[in-house]
Amino acid sequence: MGSASSQTKPRGRTRRPKLWPRPPGALRGAAFYEACIGCGDCAEICPTKAIELDFAACPVVRNDARCTQCGLCADVCSREAIRLTDLTRRRLAQLVARERGTPG
Ligand code: SF4
Ligand code: SF4
Repeated sequence: MGSASSQTKPRGRTRRPKLWPRPPGALRGAAFYEACIGCGDCAEICPTKAIELDFAACPVVRNDARCTQCGLCADVCSREAIRLTDLTRRRLAQLVARERGTPG
């Protein structure tokens, strides 16, 4: 007769559910891990503190609502693990403007 609590796994803060996205413009899959050195500069510069570092000291956005798509994390990444082209920046700006109901 096990109690409910005996079947509940504790959730460690370092465990990364697959659904947590990388910052906008981040490389995909293995390419990201190869490029990212875990310096944390992206998390430090993020003005809304949307970025946290995962178990491998790589950035994840745990709260999408906080990310304003500003692109500062891409600007600061010396390894280009996060890259935003001008076209992507313009599209992101339009998306944010549309969501806020302001001219893009
Ligand atoms: S700034 Fe770049 S290299 Fe440093 S943790 Fe962020 S993604 Fe990785
Ligand atoms: S795009 Fe801006 S708000 Fe979003 S994670 Fe990067 S630095 Fe933070």
